[in-house]
Amino acid sequence: MLLTLDGESHVRQQACDHCGAEYSLVTTYVLRGGTAFAVSKTALHHHEGAEAWIDVVFGSWHDDAAEDHVAFGCRVGPVPGSPDPAATAVDAAVPYGDSVFWGWKLSRAEALGHPQVQEFWTVVDFLLVNEPTIAHHVYHQ
Ligand SMILES: [Zn+2]
Repeated sequence: MLLTLDGESHVRQQACDHCGAEYSLVTTYVLRGGTAFAVSKTALHHHEGAEAWIDVVFGSWHDDAAEDHVAFGCRVGPVPGSPDPAATAVDAAVPYGDSVFWGWKLSRAEALGHPQVQEFWTVVDFLLVNEPTIAHHVYHQ
């Protein structure tokens, strides 16, 4: 089913815990077939080159108290031996506190074995193409 952006992303400037530099934290709402599907938080750092740390949450969005949320994480950025940025699964949402929003934060190993992992990569690919702030950071476009 078709993914679309639910309005413009929210972009906030924050100071990086690691290097102290300012970075953009981009919150994006993704619809599938017109209904709420996923929320992503993407941290746009300059560490090993231009990196996007993308965390995606799936679950019920109609009910604030829903406890079925599950979070996936990846790093998109330069990797040795590839001319293009590549996505690598990582432990989800490590810099963020535990909350109902994040729900179950999957480790890298849990994510790769999770039935929704393909949906996660679909959302990541969608964001890299369609979310202008993220696309610009990763591809300098
Ligand atoms: Zn930093």
